[in-house]
Amino acid sequence: MPLIKASCPTCGDVELTLDQIRVLVCSSDGQASYNFRCPTCAVRVSKPAEKAVVDILVSAGVALSFWRMPSELEEEHAGDPISYDELMQFHYDLADGSFFEWLSESARKREE
Ligand SMILES: [Zn+2]
Repeated sequence: MPLIKASCPTCGDVELTLDQIRVLVCSSDGQASYNFRCPTCAVRVSKPAEKAVVDILVSAGVALSFWRMPSELEEEHAGDPISYDELMQFHYDLADGSFFEWLSESARKREE
């Protein structure tokens, strides 16, 4: 089985089999990367890849996966960002159950 030489930030050059490396392409913006778990230290390594590198890896038999950005990124948002105080209040409302009371009450009002 052919070996692919890659670089781990901790161990330096390592050799990988085709099934130890994976190419990921974002179908939203075309950016690509490859990742692998270092066979020496087990750290997961991810590096950006140009199209030429993607072509070489895929033609060698490396698995190719596509992913896309979450649709929420295209939504328009209004209002100020959530503040730290609001986040803490939400935490306390979840902890004491008052958020769920408010949620049930809101759902009940919508049904009326
Ligand atoms: Zn390593």
